[in-house]
Amino acid sequence: MECYHQLETSLENPVIVNMAGKRIAVVTGANKGIGYGIMKELCTKFNGLVYLTSRDESRGLAAVKKLSELGLQAQYHQLDIDNIGSIKKFADYIKTKYDGFDVLVNNAAFAYSTDATEPLGEQAENTIRVNFTGTLNVCRELFPLLRPGARVVNVSSTAGHLLQINGSEPAASTLREKFASPTLTEDEIVSLVNQFVKDAKAGDWNAKGWPSSAYAVSKVAVSALTRVQQRAFDADLRKDVVVNSCHPGYVDTDMTAHKGPLTIEQGAVSPSYLALLPPDTDLRGAYIWYDKQVVDWVNGPTPSLY
Ligand code: NDP
Repeated sequence: MECYHQLETSLENPVIVNMAGKRIAVVTGANKGIGYGIMKELCTKFNGLVYLTSRDESRGLAAVKKLSELGLQAQYHQLDIDNIGSIKKFADYIKTKYDGFDVLVNNAAFAYSTDATEPLGEQAENTIRVNFTGTLNVCRELFPLLRPGARVVNVSSTAGHLLQINGSEPAASTLREKFASPTLTEDEIVSLVNQFVKDAKAGDWNAKGWPSSAYAVSKVAVSALTRVQQRAFDADLRKDVVVNSCHPGYVDTDMTAHKGPLTIEQGAVSPSYLALLPPDTDLRGAYIWYDKQVVDWVNGPTPSLY
């Protein structure tokens, strides 16, 4: 077994350190905003190594330096969730170096500004590709490496509440029923979001039940995915693997043009809480609010956007 794991000599301690035994946490899109706030929290509270990942290496390394100036030590690896080659390279790195990991925070995402002039079809294609498909691809490549007791956090939004699927009726209700189905599969979510992109391009998205926000559809799909993923973990041989999604609050970041009232540290509260859930937690496949309250994803309360 020992020869299978990568071994490394620690400078402070000449004893051989088995890198495969180290606890590892990973945060995507962590060079700024809420992701950076989550790094601060996990570097302080997580008992192990915390990986700051970013699509741009120089921005990521600058963030690692900023953390070190605060006395916090982060590891770094490049990870563009919109690039399958980058995702596979990162998965290979984790597999080779540690043979597994313990915490994944899917934070990276993108949103068009509220006054964007690009047609909805174009917004839909790009937003779904990064926020939903990118997140799904990260999960598909990294989930096989999760260790027993692992915690996964999918950063959703208030825009990711099921009731945001609020186009024309009865089509919207039919879509909500599909997203909320207890037998929903990953592939069915992929078909649903592909249909949204098609309808957005055709111009009849509202009649088909969809909202006019591509961001909302991408985040509803992420929250729906969370429920499907937890069902799969419940049937997994690895014990106590848990995935939840959260709305981090309306936060002062580039994404909100700095209009949100919460600080990045406040925005980091709910994702960090989910990342650090204790063993055998009951919170599985849930959708929680920035104040850690569990919200009924199917029936409400209806949150306002952000
Ligand atoms: P920011 O725009 O400040 O930060 C987004 C982060 O994601 C950046 O690090 C960005 O990198 C990264 N990112 C974007 N695309 C990719 C990609 N393809 N691969 C890897 N990283 C990528 O946003 P926030 O901090 O506000 O948002 C963080 C999360 O919180 C998102 O999931 C967002 O949807 C969610 N959220 C935010 C709310 C808010 O009020 N701020 C409210 C509800 C949800 P780069 O610097 O290179 O662009």
